[in-house]
Amino acid sequence: MAPIIFDNSYARLPENFFTRTEPTPVAAPRLVKFNRPLALEMGLDADALERDGAAVFSGNRLLAGSEPIAMAYAGHQFGQFVPQLGDGRAILLGEVVRPDGARRDIQLKGSGQTPWSRRGDGRAAIGPVLREYIVSEAMHALGIPTTRALAAVTTGQPVYRETILPGAIFTRVAASHIRVGTFQYFAARGDTDSIRALADHVIDRHYPELAGADDRYLKLVDAVAERQARLIARWLGVGFIHGVMNTDNMAVSGETIDFGPCAFMDTYDPRTVFSSIDQMGRYAYGNQPMIGQWNIARLAETLLPLIHETPGEAVDLANDAVTRFMERFQEHWKAVIRAKLGLGVQEEDEDTDLIRAFLALLYEQKADFTLSFRRLSDAAAGEGADATFASLLADPQSAGPWLSRWRQRLSRDERLPDQRATMMRAVNPAFIPRNHKVEEALAAATENQDFSLFEALNDVLARPFEDQPAFASYAEPPKPGEEVLQTFCGT
Ligand code: AMP
Ligand code: MG
Repeated sequence: MAPIIFDNSYARLPENFFTRTEPTPVAAPRLVKFNRPLALEMGLDADALERDGAAVFSGNRLLAGSEPIAMAYAGHQFGQFVPQLGDGRAILLGEVVRPDGARRDIQLKGSGQTPWSRRGDGRAAIGPVLREYIVSEAMHALGIPTTRALAAVTTGQPVYRETILPGAIFTRVAASHIRVGTFQYFAARGDTDSIRALADHVIDRHYPELAGADDRYLKLVDAVAERQARLIARWLGVGFIHGVMNTDNMAVSGETIDFGPCAFMDTYDPRTVFSSIDQMGRYAYGNQPMIGQWNIARLAETLLPLIHETPGEAVDLANDAVTRFMERFQEHWKAVIRAKLGLGVQEEDEDTDLIRAFLALLYEQKADFTLSFRRLSDAAAGEGADATFASLLADPQSAGPWLSRWRQRLSRDERLPDQRATMMRAVNPAFIPRNHKVEEALAAATENQDFSLFEALNDVLARPFEDQPAFASYAEPPKPGEEVLQTFCGT
């Protein structure tokens, strides 16, 4: 195999940033999914990886140049600070630099115990592995910054959860695995030198434009806030609910990371929660911007000693940056929702109310979020499609007043109806990973080693903005009795 050229910048950081830990070999690894296009994009030898994938992506065979480490981090879990978490079941194999110059982490998840495992077994079950595969690749196809899925293997070993489940290992590719919680790990230890080293590494790796600026650590808070604000706005645009927005699950690169009990909303309701462990609804769909800001405040706190030598000044500067998060979010959200409604670049005062009225209509009429925007895109082409949109509402008659108001508004925009419909279809997906479809695919794989539904779902979700009439059923909301009300992280 053409060797993978690793360049492991994180492993060159001080030794207290990680532990050197190798994957624990497994009994009978089998490659069940390999992401060939992603391997090629990364400049890897896809043929060889496909052939040797079982050994490589199970951790049974270590590639030359790999320096496996488990990273240190802390985090706020559901608001409670835990000073030591760390990679308890993940091992970073190393970093590769893609042909286009971008650096990417390759990490195994479920590859055995590490010094950070606490009481955990370091393993993962097939269901959560396939869920992360499906959803992270779907997010990518939707154009949303995210970690990627390179491979999934089954281990041939059982894992013990509430029941006995087939074990699996997920191979994740990320811009980096540095989290808000990584900063918190050092802050909790009063280790300002390490925070500075980490911040400089992050600037060098993700925000090189800040290097050399005197106020670079304050700017770093703003820059991370900007990417998170944009990211969360895009989540809301597709009805995504992360499910566990703990500070250890927020990547400073701005990628979506750690797909646990995540899920997509069917019927529009900002209070929607799926995660079985989120009993207070802390991480509900509509709370995500506020939680994003809360997490940015936790990041800012860790950087206070570097922001200004006078503590009072540092707090004031950091507070302003945290406040700006919400302004940034509002700007991004307005851009996302305006595009979804087909409104042109020329803003009008009335737009905010038009947007609010549309969301209120969906909420009151218990309409499916994704299909409503998709059918509205059709209605943008001509009034003939209005009835199809209206049929998504509990009372189809209720669509009329809003639709006429919308058309009034569109008549002042320059675009032609067909042009507008095309642009709307490019931002309003037909396909999202519907929970009932995801669960159905995971159940078939878990119970019968049948990966055909998993494959089919991945294929459909790779082209979310195309109608794909042959797969029309994948676009449908769950029928009565098919709804999935809870999702589990299964760790
Ligand atoms: P997560 O819920 O995946 O964000 O993980 C939260 C923390 O629990 C992290 O420190 C993980 O490494 C750790 N963890 C989760 N599952 C396991 C497991 N099966 N074995 C060891 N550590 C785990
Ligand atoms: Mg996590």
